[in-house]
Amino acid sequence: MKIGVLGAGQLGRMLALSAYPLGHQMRFLALSEEDPSSLLGKTYINSNADVIKLFSDDSDVVTYESENTDVSIVKDVSKKSNVFPSERSLHLTQHRGREKELLCELNIPCAPYQIVNSVSELQNAIKSIGLPAILKTTRDGYDGKGQFHIKFESQIDEAWGHMSGNESILEGFVKFERELSLIAVRGLDGSLKYYPLVENTHHEGILRLTVAPAQNISKSLQKKAEGYMHSLINEIDHVGVLTIELFDSKDELIVNEIAPRVHNSGHWTIEGAQTSQFENHIRAITNSPLGETSIKHQFNAMINIIGEHGATQKVLETENAHLHLYDKEERQDRKLGHITITSNSFDALNKSIDSLKEYLP
Ligand code: AMP
Repeated sequence: MKIGVLGAGQLGRMLALSAYPLGHQMRFLALSEEDPSSLLGKTYINSNADVIKLFSDDSDVVTYESENTDVSIVKDVSKKSNVFPSERSLHLTQHRGREKELLCELNIPCAPYQIVNSVSELQNAIKSIGLPAILKTTRDGYDGKGQFHIKFESQIDEAWGHMSGNESILEGFVKFERELSLIAVRGLDGSLKYYPLVENTHHEGILRLTVAPAQNISKSLQKKAEGYMHSLINEIDHVGVLTIELFDSKDELIVNEIAPRVHNSGHWTIEGAQTSQFENHIRAITNSPLGETSIKHQFNAMINIIGEHGATQKVLETENAHLHLYDKEERQDRKLGHITITSNSFDALNKSIDSLKEYLP
């Protein structure tokens, strides 16, 4: 099939790398020829109506790589081609308020929240939610951008200024012990497969390290997370990969965010799982049987390469380490690539992580 991707970043690139062995062709709707996937398929630049029409005429099925994709483009494309995940998945997950409403409807725990549109609304929200709290823009946030951690009432004006007048959401601060995520894939026929829970470590809002599977996960915790996923993914009739980011606190498993796409915390699946998240997304949207999601190695880690490429030779020299670069120019805080480490011994995994510690903050 001819698979069209709205966007042409590293996720589109890795989707292409897993679609080719299955005999598919790729099309991209990109912003510029320099985008990481633009050389991996026929690329349509710009998103005016004529270009969007050419792109959708040339695609059998279309997917997107970001929850910030313009819904109106998805609407236009849907007139010509099937789009998976659907416009509804995108609409719900690109607004933090709608996402939280859905979680509440399904009785899935999330942080207390209130939508705010002015300083006085923020003051009122703080009265009911309390401090500390986190103020976030309802849309377009990624990697911790558009967020302000409010600890004291004296920071209210500064926090609101940080939102540049955009609609925002105040969330109660969750005292979590660790951050986890769960990735699942759902086919057109409703078949559903889960990857194991993984543990994520962030620095300044950016994911730096994923350990897969997360250690010390009881069967009941994995089942609880799968229960949340089952409710969500079926409710929105999602087709493709869906990710939920979770806070594991002593007495509760709380959902932070939902992403309607392949996720950075799932990059380890390329070498670490029987079928990668990318291949499974391609399988789902092309109405093919889903692949096994079980792990190939007992212990896996993923380290993001951020800002500078660093000692890539050393990565290549490290046993059981795999290098993935996205063909991007170095820039502060930019995701340039990632490293996967696979092992059958936890000690050996940690030793390899330690030998690459210059990639970690
Ligand atoms: P987000 O963009 O919502 O994924 O937030 C980025 C990071 O900020 C998360 O990975 C957490 O480390 C932290 N964070 C976000 N929301 C909360 C919250 N309500 N309570 C505590 N920490 C949070």
